[in-house]
Amino acid sequence: MSDKTEQRVAVVTGASRGLGEAIALELAAQGRHVVLVARSADRLEAVKSAIESTGGSASVKTCDVSDSSSIEAMIGAVFTEHGRLDILVNNAGITRDTLVLRMSDEQFDEVINVNLKSAFVACRAAAKPMMKGKWGRIINIGSVAGLVGNPGQVNYAASKSALLGMTKSLAKELGGKGITANVVAPGFIETEMTDVLPDAIKEGVKTMTPLKRMGVAQEIASAVAYFASEGASYTTGQVLAVDGGMTMT
Ligand code: NDP
Repeated sequence: MSDKTEQRVAVVTGASRGLGEAIALELAAQGRHVVLVARSADRLEAVKSAIESTGGSASVKTCDVSDSSSIEAMIGAVFTEHGRLDILVNNAGITRDTLVLRMSDEQFDEVINVNLKSAFVACRAAAKPMMKGKWGRIINIGSVAGLVGNPGQVNYAASKSALLGMTKSLAKELGGKGITANVVAPGFIETEMTDVLPDAIKEGVKTMTPLKRMGVAQEIASAVAYFASEGASYTTGQVLAVDGGMTMT
């Protein structure tokens, strides 16, 4: 099946850097119009320029995904401008790491809001245009921390684990409308989020990873592109760990 028959519209949150930037570049390279979403307008414009310099199509929507009404307005504007919304990648995410005894309510709530609630609000808003088009691809970015837990990340692991149950429920609710919902769960990938980790932790990660290295953003983008493709039409409710084999059972 060709992915080039029509220009589908994809929304990628957290597209200003890291995994979201790589996902946006990959979807654009596959001929999608990509709506780049994050708070940093200048960085989003730089990603847009990079996409356009290779002949791709993109636009920018600044949006703080911790604010539900901003997400709804952003999705509404995409539908008004393009008359369609086919692909939604909920990738924006944050960490507020600390051990459980020191973790404040604010640290817990902030992570749940940005990583989980934003994805719920975006899925709810995107479901209508996807239903209208009788086609949709929802891809939520989880984490190995949501699969196996991680000390210092009670809040983050809870948010990412909850994404799995939410995505499987969406897959069951929306499957009859031609909409799939899947999770890509990255392991440790080289981005600004993991730059801050101490070298000892990075070395420990490499030791316990069968592929003996951290991943790169393109390796996550490739997995997302599969779930977003025409060919993934019979794949829903799945969780794909892209983690160098770290969590295989
Ligand atoms: P980065 O910290 O490099 O990038 C995070 C992105 O999210 C940025 O584009 C940022 O944009 C955006 N973002 C953060 N908060 C908000 C907000 N309130 N509103 C809108 N956008 C926001 O992270 P990564 O690229 O490494 O991670 C991307 C996703 O992958 C996250 O969900 C993360 O949890 C997950 N992940 C990453 C792993 C890794 O090893 N890197 C491992 C497992 C999962 P801006 O600041 O401009 O708003």
